[in-house]
Amino acid sequence: MRLLVVEDEVQLADALSEILKRNMYSVDTVYNGIDGLDNALTGVYDCIILDIMLPGMNGIEVLNNLRREHINSPVILLTARSEVEDKINGLDSGADDYLTKPFVTGELLARVRALTRRKGEIVDYNQMDFNGLTLRKDTCCVAWQGNDVKLSLKEYQIMELLISNPKRILPKERIIEKIWGYESDVEYNNIEVYISFLRKKLAAINAPVQIKTARGIGYSLEQEV
Ligand code: CA
Repeated sequence: MRLLVVEDEVQLADALSEILKRNMYSVDTVYNGIDGLDNALTGVYDCIILDIMLPGMNGIEVLNNLRREHINSPVILLTARSEVEDKINGLDSGADDYLTKPFVTGELLARVRALTRRKGEIVDYNQMDFNGLTLRKDTCCVAWQGNDVKLSLKEYQIMELLISNPKRILPKERIIEKIWGYESDVEYNNIEVYISFLRKKLAAINAPVQIKTARGIGYSLEQEV
């Protein structure tokens, strides 16, 4: 999952993105409202953590612009204790949640999880399933019937993306946007390498799923028949 942190207190912004990265998210960090809006308008983010008091353009304006452009990424506003008025405006402008500074990181992580959860998903934040295959966040493993195999961070992120979109073709551009970000120079060949690692690992545990290639487009996770 890809997150955007927009916060002008550089130390706080960097600390947040560090914590989020350690929790297996891909994170982009920007330090003013204009860059925040620019990034957010791409629509690739699964959640945006947006400070209200920002140089360039404040968080409420960023949010208003986003919603006007029909970008519906969930937004968590960061507010100072004194900004009650802003909090109300923020929720009216289409924020999904807010956190008052200072906050403990556990609370931020819980709110990100709540907002990025798939509708109707059974709430086990550590685990995703597809056709009996389990992807576990705490151990960074995929498992099937008592066999498991460890994944690298990128493999984990690709697998997470595939399991979140079962039986749907994920275009390669989408995978790059989500995992490496827009400005990366990752090439399609790199993804192919990770996919081939993943296929080998899935085969090693005899998992009844396969990553199918849609030639020239991307990949989909399918049940083995
Ligand atoms: Ca600020």
